[in-house]
Amino acid sequence: MAQHGTGPRVVVVGGGIAGVSAAYALARHPSAPAVTLIEAEGQLAHHTTGRSAAQLIENYGTHPLRALTKASLPYFLHPPEGLADGPLLERRGVLSVADDARSAEFDQQLAEGIAVNPTIAEVPVAEAVALFPALRPEPIARALWEPESYAIDVAAVHQSFVRGLRRAGGTVALHHRALRIERAGSGWRIRTGAGGAAAPDPSVPGDGDGPVLEADVVINAAGAWGDDVARRAELTPIGLRPLRRTAFMVASRFEGSGAWPLVADIEHRWYVKPDGVQFLCSPADETPSAPCDAKPEEVDVARAIDAINGATTIGIRSVASSWAGLRTFTPDRTMAIGPDPSEPTFLWCVGQGGTGIQSSPGAGQLVADLALDGRPGPTFDPSELGGLTLDPTAFGPARFLPPAP
Ligand SMILES: Cc1cc2nc3c(=O)[nH]c(=O)nc-3n(C[C@H](O)[C@H](O)[C@H](O)COP(=O)(O)OP(=O)(O)OC[C@H]3O[C@@H](n4cnc5c(N)ncnc54)[C@H](O)[C@@H]3O)c2cc1C
Repeated sequence: MAQHGTGPRVVVVGGGIAGVSAAYALARHPSAPAVTLIEAEGQLAHHTTGRSAAQLIENYGTHPLRALTKASLPYFLHPPEGLADGPLLERRGVLSVADDARSAEFDQQLAEGIAVNPTIAEVPVAEAVALFPALRPEPIARALWEPESYAIDVAAVHQSFVRGLRRAGGTVALHHRALRIERAGSGWRIRTGAGGAAAPDPSVPGDGDGPVLEADVVINAAGAWGDDVARRAELTPIGLRPLRRTAFMVASRFEGSGAWPLVADIEHRWYVKPDGVQFLCSPADETPSAPCDAKPEEVDVARAIDAINGATTIGIRSVASSWAGLRTFTPDRTMAIGPDPSEPTFLWCVGQGGTGIQSSPGAGQLVADLALDGRPGPTFDPSELGGLTLDPTAFGPARFLPPAP
């Protein structure tokens, strides 16, 4: 194997879960690339990654994304030696409840669920209430039980990728906002500046006061700013849509509720996830937003309180803390992972939407495979995916862009 850092120079833009998982997988490639991850903020995971509900649900997201989640399970369940101090996952089932009017939606989710994990099943309403004793049985007609779901220790997962990146010789540069990404010979020159991702541009647009980096390959993992980073490389944006989602914590008055499952409306109009002696609640909102440091709106919190108090006996009266984050989707809600059709050494790893944490080991590996080998590697062999298949064209950014001239 080549010596660390003697292979291609790769700059990964963005230090959320998409960027660190990609940088980790790239740094371990046998061609021994020199990997530098640049992050605009003074800390990693400050934006969406630090604000998730931290749950892994196999029966969630578009079909291509389900294969990516499946491909991620081995990393989560058996993290590489020395990268994690404890388990990354803790079993927490998911219960989805439907009223009479949502039977068709329920049947569809049941069928799709069984295809990804045969332990997913319909259970009697009484059993659902036994699993989550604060559920009101009256509005429920049917209940879907996904026992093999997990709470994710997001900080530990993120940290495991950073550790793995550093151990493989990669570097992390904070306060490095990519301001201009220029073609330089067969590679790229990245001009950087201080100031966070949401800060206004410097007075002379594109000219930062930070270091200038050279790269053979650029990975765009800038979350809600994915299209902004493409524009800075003079590439066509793919139409990313950042959608704000709100979450808040409330106290639990129930003994032992920390062991209950996550419960959600079948259409994901609200959900509640037990977390120690609290509940994490969300209205599952999707409010369009510009890329920004998202903040919660009182009206969204109030809507969730109404829905959750109607569906459960939790009896929310006050909120301990609240936050919001941007779940950023591509137009077809499957991530964009792969080379830009007009500049194949510029690769996208964006549109993580609502599954960016649970699919991060797979997404990072896929972009690394495509960047350095041009095709998906053994992680995505059908024998590893429990009957699912991963078609890289389903992730290709080309589906949103005009063909290269
Ligand atoms: C309330 C909520 C609940 C969620 N629940 C779940 C869940 O249960 N399970 C799950 O899997 N997912 C969940 N998600 C989604 C998940 O959090 C996201 O998919 C994921 O965090 C996106 O990661 P990212 O790295 O793409 O984006 P980010 O974490 O936002 O990272 C992008 C980074 O790029 C940086 N950046 C931007 N522009 C530049 C630039 N020019 N130069 C340098 N750096 C730049 C930003 O500063 C930022 O740090 C949830 C999200 C929310 C908001």
